[in-house]
Amino acid sequence: MSTLNPKRTIAELKELRALTGDENGAQRVAFTKTWIAARELLRQKVAGLPLEIHNDAAGNTWFTLPGESEKCLLIGGHIDSVPNGGWLDGCLNVFAGVEILRRMSAQYHGKPPVTVRLVDWADEEGARFGKSLFGSSACSGNLDMNEARGLADKQGIKLPDALREVGIDFERVKESGKELQHAAAYLELHIEQGPVLLDLDLPLGAVLGTFGVERHAITFHGQAAHSGSTPMNRRKDAFLAAAKMSPEIYQIAARSGNGVCTIGACSTKPGIVTSVVEECRITLDQRHLDSAKLATMLAEAKSASEQFAREGNVKVFWERLWQIAPRPFNDELIALCDDAIRETSGQSHRLPSGPLHDAAEVASAGVPTVMMFVQSLHGISHNKIEDTKEEHLELCVTAFDKLAEKAMKWIQQKD
Ligand SMILES: [Zn+2]
Repeated sequence: MSTLNPKRTIAELKELRALTGDENGAQRVAFTKTWIAARELLRQKVAGLPLEIHNDAAGNTWFTLPGESEKCLLIGGHIDSVPNGGWLDGCLNVFAGVEILRRMSAQYHGKPPVTVRLVDWADEEGARFGKSLFGSSACSGNLDMNEARGLADKQGIKLPDALREVGIDFERVKESGKELQHAAAYLELHIEQGPVLLDLDLPLGAVLGTFGVERHAITFHGQAAHSGSTPMNRRKDAFLAAAKMSPEIYQIAARSGNGVCTIGACSTKPGIVTSVVEECRITLDQRHLDSAKLATMLAEAKSASEQFAREGNVKVFWERLWQIAPRPFNDELIALCDDAIRETSGQSHRLPSGPLHDAAEVASAGVPTVMMFVQSLHGISHNKIEDTKEEHLELCVTAFDKLAEKAMKWIQQKD
């Protein structure tokens, strides 16, 4: 009986890297020839397995191992990458899923107790059209069709036209939603892409969910005045009020528990060395796993900005740029993920995900979901230096396979 072989996963990831990468990193940008070549390799790798394989209306590829029950255990990943990307982001999940299909097919003689499906999501990264989670958001039903219809790449090619090139009818992409019909659980393995597990010296962690995000522009409006003739006590200095926000957001984030706040941009008008700042615009990005705490962080930032505006005799205006709700994962699956990790490497750790993942879309569609993270060296991703120790890659395939088996039993029990 063939058993799980995590070393084979690493070898296949290296083969993929050789086929679809260059000296600058991975080049599997969605809807390109290189992406199609990567998907061809994936189909070759599963050729000997008793799978039904098809692309859905949004271009996601589904590999189905039919089981005794039509209830489905889903395992997801994305083989697309950003330009000059790393060798693990997205494709680790897919090839780990292939290894699990091999193990289950052998162990259950081609027919596991529940149906097991691996999905390779189309265009998770959004590298070409600036909109991530394309295939999974079409499938979850969250994709904003009007917005997506107007998206164009740097050459001015519209998303619907690029999709037609690869055989996808844009107007029908949401028909992919029917793929979730019998979905009973969704699992996704991913590199952490941050430094938390590295700093804890732990290989693996269970993911609690993806952060909700509130993104705003805050504009303070004062009065331009000559830098020489205007006494300090007569100024309406928009920059002074905006600058007070910087230490304030550290306090707000600290009070929130594990939320994060970032002022990422600052611009001033008139923006010359001899004038008090009339207008200062900053951006504020706030993230938290708990929607009530996210709302509190936002309210605290608003009231602080109003206080600083009053103190400085300037006005303040808020404009929402973007928001998304937190997507907490399933408590029982998180516990199973902890168990799988403990059985494999001794100690687990629970952490939220800062980046969004396809798993967030599946969770929002009501499918019980969990992710497992494996440590990232340097805490870096979307870069050719992205890396994870091979011993950790082996551990993550082993632990993720254990999680898949536990999730399958969990689905059976719920019958
Ligand atoms: Zn990814």
